[in-house]
Amino acid sequence: MSSYPYGSRSASKAPLGPLAPLLDRASTHAAESAAAIAAFGKREQFGDFYPRLGHRNGMEFESAIAELEQADGALGFSSGIAAMHAAILGLCSAGDRVLIARQIYGGTSNLAKEILPRFGIEVERFSSLDPAQLEAALSKPTRMVVVETPINPTLRIVDLRRISRLCREAGAISVVDSTFAPPLQQRCLGLGVDLVMHSATKFLGGHSDVLAGVLAGSHALLGEIESFRVRTGAILSADSAWLLCRSLHTLELRLRAQQEAAGQIAQDLQSLVTAGGPVRSVNYPGLAEHPDHALAREQMQGFGALVTFEVDGGLESAMRCFDRLRLVARGPSLGGVESLASLPAHTTHASLSPEERAAEGIAEGHMRVSVGLEGAELIMADLRQALGLS
Ligand code: PLP
Repeated sequence: MSSYPYGSRSASKAPLGPLAPLLDRASTHAAESAAAIAAFGKREQFGDFYPRLGHRNGMEFESAIAELEQADGALGFSSGIAAMHAAILGLCSAGDRVLIARQIYGGTSNLAKEILPRFGIEVERFSSLDPAQLEAALSKPTRMVVVETPINPTLRIVDLRRISRLCREAGAISVVDSTFAPPLQQRCLGLGVDLVMHSATKFLGGHSDVLAGVLAGSHALLGEIESFRVRTGAILSADSAWLLCRSLHTLELRLRAQQEAAGQIAQDLQSLVTAGGPVRSVNYPGLAEHPDHALAREQMQGFGALVTFEVDGGLESAMRCFDRLRLVARGPSLGGVESLASLPAHTTHASLSPEERAAEGIAEGHMRVSVGLEGAELIMADLRQALGLS
């Protein structure tokens, strides 16, 4: 196992010198001697050498995430899906059995369906909203369990304490995609989870200008995954790491403001439901009407900045509403300072049939809004006019 000192909590210290980190774009560093290069090559020495093996900007980002997640350490990747891929393939081998929730990001589902079986990994799907299903599935030897919470786009909440306890009892590694609830809103490791993954492209980056992913957890697991990262090469770039460090300074402020606006918008949309308006239902874990409201209160430190709702009249009505948006941008992704809308039937869940979407609680008229920093009043005014209300 490698002992590369990827960013870890103990590595963080009070800032000295330039307050913004220096960006090191060098793809190689000249060394003093043959012996020094041999030590780097054998991984007996670490530091400025060759960036696929690790680099200072990446370690700065990793240290900051380890601190936020209260983890032993963190590892940065070139995308969120690269982080998930490394978590699974870095820790599992041919013959291992992996349980992957049905309610998971489409890219992870594609790994489950198209990639993992090619490498002899047995994949079984289960409902993360039904712990009894997981308990039954864990009666067979299992290497890893992967879930996502909050779930896209229903924003249902998975009981992480219960799931991580079941995994621990069965000797399985628990992995959570917590992209929709970054650290400060949800600390998965504190709930007993082994590894937490984020698409840093979303809230951690927050400015729609970086593609990256990150894993946080124990040194024992990260050591294995770090070896895999060196061998397969999906480390995040120095530029991405630099941008992420810049973004993390405002993470708490952004999350607080975006979440407060999301809560207000969810309430306003809910009042349209109550009034029999053009919105059929609203999904936001902060609403008392949400089926997992109590669990969200208990497990999360905030309810997040995503609101999803069903436009009355199905997909055509939702498309009309979507096309009328003037302030809220239309596009994939989430977590940026700009509000962004998408229709799950056309994006994240396009590969499912309407019946399969319905089975997962995703209506054809479902619209997802990632709430940005424009202010609740302006965003709600845009949604109202798009819904044909003014
Ligand atoms: N997990 C979730 C919940 C996501 O929404 C996404 C991307 O949208 C990913 C993982 C994959 O992240 P990336 O696009 O950075 O690879």
